[in-house]
Amino acid sequence: LIELRGVNKHYGALHVLQDVDLTVGRGEVVVVIGPSGSGKSTLCRAMNRLERVESGEIVIDGQPLPDEGKALARLRAEVGMVFQSFNLFAHKTVLANVSLAQIKVRKRKREEADGRSRELLDRVGLAAHAEKYPAQLSGGQQQRVAIARALAMDPKALLFDEPTSALDPEMINEVLEVMQQLARDGMTMVVVTHEMGFARSAANRVVFMADGRIVEDRTPEEFFTSPRSERAKDFLSKIL
Ligand code: ATP
Ligand code: MG
Repeated sequence: LIELRGVNKHYGALHVLQDVDLTVGRGEVVVVIGPSGSGKSTLCRAMNRLERVESGEIVIDGQPLPDEGKALARLRAEVGMVFQSFNLFAHKTVLANVSLAQIKVRKRKREEADGRSRELLDRVGLAAHAEKYPAQLSGGQQQRVAIARALAMDPKALLFDEPTSALDPEMINEVLEVMQQLARDGMTMVVVTHEMGFARSAANRVVFMADGRIVEDRTPEEFFTSPRSERAKDFLSKIL
């Protein structure tokens, strides 16, 4: 569903993505881990064109990533993204936050959008909070709203960039549980996270990045029990 071939990107002299090849199949969950600055966020952002790359191919569901315009807006609807910061509109209710892009991008009528939003809020355990404003919710609840909002576009895939790292520890699990459920339901997901429990239980593959390269791309079982590279061994010894 998502294919990157020979992708390169620099920031000035810094080579942040170096000949990256990555294939994510339909229904697959790929967890991306690696040290700070290794290029994980850049990789994610490249996949829905928040970041331009200099060379290489990025193909989503058989279509090359468009550069701009309507095709790009459509692509962004197909490949949703959930960030560390939730980016909800503070002056809109939870319901309106989830409905907004459905109306603007998917051209749904308000009633239809709101109906779908309520279904999704129920799915992430927030049915009772639809009329509240973001500031009235906890961080974990806000992140679940952000996930519902991404799902509302009926995306083919979802990208998560450290979705739980801004959360207090007691709220991390409620977000991971929603993500686990999505994984079980067959959503194609690329997840940058340091939550190794999630990687072990939900990922089909773990991709380990260092210095802009994919150093390992293996099953969680293989990766955690017998990492091949020194970089990965070193990284795991620090976080486990
Ligand atoms: P972290 O775990 O800290 O989130 P990361 O693996 O997500 O790190 P990236 O954010 O992809 O890393 O950044 C890769 C490198 O590119 C880093 O050295 C970073 O400082 C640099 N970088 C990222 N964005 C920019 C930018 N807009 N301009 C210049 N350099 C950037
Ligand atoms: Mg990052």
